[in-house]
Amino acid sequence: MGQRGVTRSRFVTHSTRGGAPRPGRAWYGPSMPRPRAARRVLIVEDDLAIRQMLEDVLGEHGFAVETAGSGATALVRMRANRPDLVLLDLMLPDMNGWAFLRARERERELAQVPVLVVSAAQPAGLGEAQELGAPVILTKPFDVDKLLAEVDRLCQQPVRQCAWCGRVMDEAGQFRLRSGRKLRWASHGICPTCKEAERRELTGEATAPTPGRETPTR
Ligand SMILES: [Zn+2]
Repeated sequence: MGQRGVTRSRFVTHSTRGGAPRPGRAWYGPSMPRPRAARRVLIVEDDLAIRQMLEDVLGEHGFAVETAGSGATALVRMRANRPDLVLLDLMLPDMNGWAFLRARERERELAQVPVLVVSAAQPAGLGEAQELGAPVILTKPFDVDKLLAEVDRLCQQPVRQCAWCGRVMDEAGQFRLRSGRKLRWASHGICPTCKEAERRELTGEATAPTPGRETPTR
């Protein structure tokens, strides 16, 4: 968002909610965007028709696509050839999407790959996926342009996550996506809301309501 030049030169090696970067610290990006042709997407989907459709769409748009019909196969493929992004259906045979997310999280290398959930699951199930470190979700039936935009966004550069509240930036540039995990594939900094809260605290305005936040009516 306008400060891209600044962001890449800084590197925060470690940040957690407790020992987060100082206020005003710039975002960092671990890597420069790569040309689209080099980007690999692994589609994890058991429905053959949907899998084929996704494969065609992404293939036509220059992505190198691999597919897996189950969670277990997906893990094997990821270990063999780490993709830049996983497109995950949650309802899978053998290992379902949630189990896949848990298994992936246990392997440091695999946890560095962003996951875009494409699912028809109920809101509770989608919330659990966010809890497990897959904050970005497209619900079926999905819009192809929206899918491509999200795939591009997640492949291109690290998505931003607030080190304090854990929220992840959405496609509109707002920190609105929940995540129950500190994401290994995100870049970490402080979101505007947390920055503003801290500023108020430092300037003694802590009791004033934060703009944009709901103020309880007495
Ligand atoms: Zn925040």
